[in-house]
Amino acid sequence: MLKGKTALVTGSTSGIGQGVAQQLAAQGANIILNGFGDAEPAKAAMTQAGAAHGIQVGYHGADMSKPADIADMFAYADREFGGVDILINNAGIQFVSPVESFPIEKWDAIIAINLSSAFHTTRLAIPGMRAKNWGRVINIASAHGLVASAGKSAYVAAKHGIVGLTKAVALETATTGITVNAICPGWVLTPLVQKQIDDRAAREGVSIDQAGKELLSEKQPSLQFVTPEQLGDLAVFLCTPAANQVRGVAWNVDGGWVAQ
Ligand code: NAD
Repeated sequence: MLKGKTALVTGSTSGIGQGVAQQLAAQGANIILNGFGDAEPAKAAMTQAGAAHGIQVGYHGADMSKPADIADMFAYADREFGGVDILINNAGIQFVSPVESFPIEKWDAIIAINLSSAFHTTRLAIPGMRAKNWGRVINIASAHGLVASAGKSAYVAAKHGIVGLTKAVALETATTGITVNAICPGWVLTPLVQKQIDDRAAREGVSIDQAGKELLSEKQPSLQFVTPEQLGDLAVFLCTPAANQVRGVAWNVDGGWVAQ
């Protein structure tokens, strides 16, 4: 279904980004991976997922807090893949602290990676999408793009910000074949959340399993984690013609979190 399209997924060496990239690869999209750490396992997973379609898989190690790196990644995408048709803004980090003791460098890093990077990728992707009159920008926001939690001021500010960015760019492209939407996951069991579970277990002197259950029961009525594959399948849907008029939404996939 996505054969001939190229998807750039930021932060796709692990977690949600890898899961979303994999579902797009399975539909035949070429994949450009990005993120820190060893990219080889993710690259192998993409090649396997897209094997039936003989997809092209690439990787660029841009640090998403650095606009010059992001520009270099888009030059790579133009050179090696003929541009980016599907942009998934996913790279993100977390830090938890009350606002009065929130380290300034952590605030700056969260805003740069979780929000400003999506501005830079979007401004670089839109001209090529306009030229083809087709494109998809999918921002992986969060339930924290819709509601807040204590201790997460920078993350909540960045995620509310990316929902705002989604709506503004959706309006700017509303008469074109480019759609811009956000997906707002609840808890997904990835390294980013595992750290919060481990911290909680240590703080409360409970088992990891117990800490995970408590985390879910506080926010997520389904008491089940969302999976990267489920988020990937929603991204695939947003790439279909059925979603041509889905524009500027912030679609929560959160086990009921924001319905409360
Ligand atoms: P993760 O830690 O598993 O993956 C984060 C990815 O981003 C990794 O590939 C990492 O290398 C990359 N990354 C981090 N900093 C980077 C930088 N400066 N430059 C380039 N790449 C960088 O986390 P995850 O849980 O998969 O989170 C992915 C996205 O989903 C984030 O935006 C996060 O806020 C969002 N999200 C996660 C959850 C959840 O419960 N896990 C819920 C809602 C939203």
